Amino acid sequence: MMTENKNTVSFIKSLFPDKEFVHLHEPVFIGNERNYVLDAIDSTFVSSVGEYVNRFEKMMAEVTGTKYAVALVNGTSALHISLILAEVKTDDEVLTQALTFIATANAISYIGAKPVFIDVDIDTMGMSPNKLISFLEENGEIRNDGYTYNKLSGKRIKACVPMHTFGFPCRIDELVTICEKWNIILVEDSAESIGSYYKGKHTGSFGLMGVFSFNGNKTITCGGGGALVTNDEAIAKLAKHLTTQAKVPHAWEFRHDYIGYNYRMPNLNAAMACAQLEQLDNYVSKKRELAQQYNLFFSKSNIKFFDEIEDSKANFWLNCILLKDKNERDRFLTYTNNNGVMTRPVWILMNKLEMFKDSLTGNLANSEWIEDRLVNIPSSVRL
Ligand SMILES: *Cc1c(COP(=O)(O)O)cnc(C)c1O
Repeated sequence: MMTENKNTVSFIKSLFPDKEFVHLHEPVFIGNERNYVLDAIDSTFVSSVGEYVNRFEKMMAEVTGTKYAVALVNGTSALHISLILAEVKTDDEVLTQALTFIATANAISYIGAKPVFIDVDIDTMGMSPNKLISFLEENGEIRNDGYTYNKLSGKRIKACVPMHTFGFPCRIDELVTICEKWNIILVEDSAESIGSYYKGKHTGSFGLMGVFSFNGNKTITCGGGGALVTNDEAIAKLAKHLTTQAKVPHAWEFRHDYIGYNYRMPNLNAAMACAQLEQLDNYVSKKRELAQQYNLFFSKSNIKFFDEIEDSKANFWLNCILLKDKNERDRFLTYTNNNGVMTRPVWILMNKLEMFKDSLTGNLANSEWIEDRLVNIPSSVRL
């Protein structure tokens, strides 16, 4: 195993020959980032209004094949606002994955709703349609008001937030069908999956809403940023209104008609976001090329490379490998990080964290299996 780890480190270093230390994911600025940011500064419109915000929203709608996009300060705020727009209330339950980044579960908690953790499929790392069905059939009942309630807790199950883990699309069409049947609103956490498609449709465009992040470690970044996409005009309008302090448009009067949020993306960030989004196809094809090289290399080793499923096209945001067991995973993490190659395990499952330790969960066998074995390996776009 030791020589295998050594060979892997040499191979990864050979993929990034100009790096002393190979990071997991570095941003790349080779397009119009400087031009647009300077232009935004020269225009003096650096803050909450400006042409780049409008342009970025148009581009996002186009890229994702949705009718509307609203640019926001980050992915977490986009998740928060999407759940408010889904009319999730305090003490409702929201179904999500145990295997996800903390922001998904946090956003549910901001509303005072309770996350319920469902298992993922082993081949997508996204919410498992079969596990969702068995959870609902076992615990759910549709009451006279048309909503699904959890028979155990008595709480309403209002929304479901699957996540496209590391840019690999989950079986989102099946999840949509299940949620329709149970009258549960589906919001896609597509924070990691810009440029990823399932059955020819962009991730984030299947649910009532989809949410994206443009944080520094994501496939494209504008420092910090997020977006909410939807085909529903009323939701898009309300999203924009609620995220701009719910101010009623007027030449001078300060009238606000809801408790709003200051969640709008500044024009300065939008300038950078436009330039980055122009590179999306280029970046995704470079990332897929890197993934192919990894795939070939690991096919000759004892380490399993995680590949996209049929009918999906992943952006390979972070490449993933699966080690034999937790011990081998830990040996791999130690060796690589001590030898100039940054690698990371997957997140600790949400239900194991202090804040969520009393949460309801389905059977989490797949999540636990992945948690013990998965490692992310360097995945930056190479010039
Ligand atoms: C990055 C990320 C978010 C949060 O996005 P921010 O822009 O960092 O707030 C939410 N969900 C997932 C799955 C993410 O990876």
